[in-house]
Amino acid sequence: MSRSNDLNRIRELLQRRRREILTANAGAHRELTALKDQERDPEYEENAQSELADYTLSSLLESQRREIMLIDAALRRMDMGVFGDCVDCGFEIPIERLEALPFAIRCEEDATLHELETRGGPAATPSM
Ligand SMILES: [Zn+2]
Repeated sequence: MSRSNDLNRIRELLQRRRREILTANAGAHRELTALKDQERDPEYEENAQSELADYTLSSLLESQRREIMLIDAALRRMDMGVFGDCVDCGFEIPIERLEALPFAIRCEEDATLHELETRGGPAATPSM
């Protein structure tokens, strides 16, 4: 199994998770039903997803909004081809770590350093 296959699998997981959060929040809205019907068309899905996101984001719980933002950031890094590379040392983050922590932007070593450096900062900072 190549790394790009693994990354694709993580992308699918993130997209599914994103959809789950939005789906859970959109409730019985018609837009959602339409979206589900179109789910097999990836291009439509992407546009509809962002519309749906704009539309429901304000009603999301803070924790859900935060997760969506992390997912979006991870998907953006995938689009830029830098997902899975440590932002500090530039080396590839092991796939096992990414599977456990798909939002990780640092290798384990740098994440530990980063946490030590930022200890005492805002408690809300998730450990990456
Ligand atoms: Zn690193």
